[in-house]
Amino acid sequence: MFSWGEKKMINTKKKLLVVPLILALVVVAMSLSGCTQKPANKIIVGTSADFPPFEFTDANGAIVGFDVELITKILTDQGYTVEVQDIGFDSLIPALQTGKIDVIAAAMTITDERKGQLDFSDPYYDANQAVLVKIGSDVNIMTEDDLANYIIGAQTGTTGWGWVNDTLVATGTLNSDNFSSYDLYTDAVADLIVGPSRVGAIVIDSPVAKAFADMGYVKIVLNITTNESYGFGVLKGNSELQTKINEGLTAVMATSYWEDLVTKYFAS
Ligand code: GLN
Repeated sequence: MFSWGEKKMINTKKKLLVVPLILALVVVAMSLSGCTQKPANKIIVGTSADFPPFEFTDANGAIVGFDVELITKILTDQGYTVEVQDIGFDSLIPALQTGKIDVIAAAMTITDERKGQLDFSDPYYDANQAVLVKIGSDVNIMTEDDLANYIIGAQTGTTGWGWVNDTLVATGTLNSDNFSSYDLYTDAVADLIVGPSRVGAIVIDSPVAKAFADMGYVKIVLNITTNESYGFGVLKGNSELQTKINEGLTAVMATSYWEDLVTKYFAS
């Protein structure tokens, strides 16, 4: 048993200990949040690195490509530091909307539907759709209607996927069982090379179809005019970043850097 005096002393000692403990916890919490907080001038760029020559991984596993170099140049010129993250195409818009990334650089076509979800930069590259088949396969596609005779592949969430869905599946031309959706276009091309029992043809953006054809095994058999233009995406209402990207893009396009970049990735 403690006397009243002893008890009071113990309680006071306890109080004296509690105050520094709280202070220490506050300091730890502050430093932890400091660690995770992003510096104001750092921009996280999201891409889907399955889309050569716009974004792909090189032999060392680094994310490279036309979009990656271009957006990095634009943003560093505007005083930002840049980190590039590889995210599946269909997850890019949710990642932007939840603040995981600040910019989408993924050969993303500017569409009215997407304009309801994000803001785009000025257009920086034009494209159409194209149909890829395996070289040496007996797949015979000369018209859009011929696509109905094969398993057709496209990447989920893309304009190519939308074209197949709206033009072929929704009209009853292509049986939906013969429409194969892929998370990555690289996987679709790998299946195409396996053979028509996996997938007979792929609908994909025309410059990317050409890049895959240049690597061998597959060829373009049909062009589909869709008149698309790519833009960089930012969070809806982030006009500050949108303006900076547009200013940087205009500046870059006026220099030889632009032509050198186009030659580097598209001359073949
Ligand atoms: N341009 C197409 C789109 O916006 C495909 C982009 C991609 O697959 N990276 O849907």
